[in-house]
Amino acid sequence: MCRHLAYLGPPVPLASLLFEPGHGLVHQAWAPRDMRGGGTINADGFGVGWFPAGGGDPLRYRSAMPIWTDAALPGLSASVQSGAVLAAVRSATVGMPVIETAAAPFQYERWLFSHNGVVRGFPGTLASLASALPVEDLLTLEAPTDSAALFALVRHQLRAGKTAAEAVASVVSDVSGVSPDSRLNLLLTDGEQIVATTVGHSLSIRVLTDSVLVASEPPDDHPAWRAVPDRRLLTATLTDLTMGEV
Ligand code: GLN
Repeated sequence: MCRHLAYLGPPVPLASLLFEPGHGLVHQAWAPRDMRGGGTINADGFGVGWFPAGGGDPLRYRSAMPIWTDAALPGLSASVQSGAVLAAVRSATVGMPVIETAAAPFQYERWLFSHNGVVRGFPGTLASLASALPVEDLLTLEAPTDSAALFALVRHQLRAGKTAAEAVASVVSDVSGVSPDSRLNLLLTDGEQIVATTVGHSLSIRVLTDSVLVASEPPDDHPAWRAVPDRRLLTATLTDLTMGEV
């Protein structure tokens, strides 16, 4: 299944998350270590979202191609710096299309979102929850995939005034209710906080004095990396980390 990461801290080149570490996201795309039976490599597209240094909504660069084949990314990622990043490489679930718009991060205003996992029985199992969405949201789904539908559900909760943690927790709870074997490792950030879940897949966190990085797999050997247990919801800012059950 996909690999994803989210970073908050001092501005860093995107390349320091993607290319530079020995097991950065590009390495995790073709040599992941902990896929838990969900695929072999992450060759079905990628996306990087980052918050510009001057403020404003995040920017994205996505593709349906394997991240290691992208000719523009090494130069782009070496020259773009950001203090808030969400990036993902994708292994498409069987039956789901390999298209640019299916690659995370999904975006709504200042929010970036990623899903590592699968909604079992999609789309049928999600139909009842999706029926509560505005028709316009359903007509404008970015891709006919479980991840895009999950994002629409999270966005609906955010629009209703829920906090990021509440929005993610309620969607995980609702989807687990209708499709119990689903794998729902989610990431959501607005550039100030990261909300992350572990439901069925790996996630690790590295908290330093001035930065926080969560990633499906640790990209380096820093001793501060900690594995997040399964079925957790964590909310991280630069000053605070809370972890509860989900
Ligand atoms: N099911 C999602 C997709 O196909 C995510 C896949 C994954 O985590 N590998 O895009």
